[in-house]
Amino acid sequence: MLDTSFETTVPLQDIPETAVVQAGLPVYSAKQRKEKIDRIKFLLQKENAVLIAHYYTHETLQRIAEETGGYVSDSLEMARFGSRHNATTLIVAGVRFMGETAKILNPEKRVLMPTLQATCSLDIGCPAKEFSAFCDLHPEHEVVVYANTSAEVKARADWVVTSSIALKVVSHLMDQDKKILWAPDRHLGRYIEKVTGADMISWQGACVVHEEFKARALGDLIAKHPDAGILVHPESPEAVIEAADVVGSTTALIRAAQELPHRSFIVATDNRIFYKMKKAAPDKVFIEAPTAGEGATCKSCAHCPWMAMNGLHNLEAVLESGENEIHVAEEIRNKAYRSTHRMLDFVAN
Ligand code: SF4
Repeated sequence: MLDTSFETTVPLQDIPETAVVQAGLPVYSAKQRKEKIDRIKFLLQKENAVLIAHYYTHETLQRIAEETGGYVSDSLEMARFGSRHNATTLIVAGVRFMGETAKILNPEKRVLMPTLQATCSLDIGCPAKEFSAFCDLHPEHEVVVYANTSAEVKARADWVVTSSIALKVVSHLMDQDKKILWAPDRHLGRYIEKVTGADMISWQGACVVHEEFKARALGDLIAKHPDAGILVHPESPEAVIEAADVVGSTTALIRAAQELPHRSFIVATDNRIFYKMKKAAPDKVFIEAPTAGEGATCKSCAHCPWMAMNGLHNLEAVLESGENEIHVAEEIRNKAYRSTHRMLDFVAN
């Protein structure tokens, strides 16, 4: 059974509202947009920099990454791409833990982010000091943490995983009769426990985007679209996961959208993923899973407020100024490198 004694969800007042973040972004004419994009492309080349963007960022940033030899992906593949690429500067459009992961794996490279304000409710809901105390209470457990954590939390872990390989790593550890201490996402932890049958205790964090998906409203939507496939990210609540045809990482959901025979899909993850889904399956229809309903806060309304902070304005600014560089103290980085690189080695084998 999952230990749910650690209630660590971030208070709602500490989470920005996506609509408010978006309303604060600059608005450009078509001409200004084109000028900004051209300037960004020029600066990427001039600075020997490559843009690595997450699936949840604005499609304009995803397109710039694609058109300039950069990369758009989930956090595992973002980390792998940054390690393989020979650019001296990595521009990471996403949230802070992604920039830190890039720095952990690439200490010799300069890692810049459009904004350092972009964080993650899982990261801030798992402070290193409290997490370390939690680990100390369970010394016989193998500590497995999600990539959505700070460098300090990664440094305390035995393993770092992303949602795309969490099940495989936990199964591998079960084969060695290990007990698992999991952090920070409680829904993903419950899902892993259910699928693998692992002996787990879990931190009780949550993602502000996925936690807002509502099972009852989803049931109503499925009734209206009975032929649609249901694609769900495992950070979603258990009742939403139970309705899924496919549960998986962002990359797995995009693949499912392409490969499954359905003509339409209801998708429970950040709606910015639709850019890649439409590219992968242009003749299919994608419908956002509902976030409204009983107990709804709609802080995110299916789009991460921190991902929404990445825009053309701050991407251009960071390339011009060289500010917003990610630094990780060497002692922390060395420890975090071990647990993070283990994930890459595991994937490679
Ligand atoms: S979508 Fe959720 S898990 Fe991803 S960065 Fe935003 S808050 Fe964190």
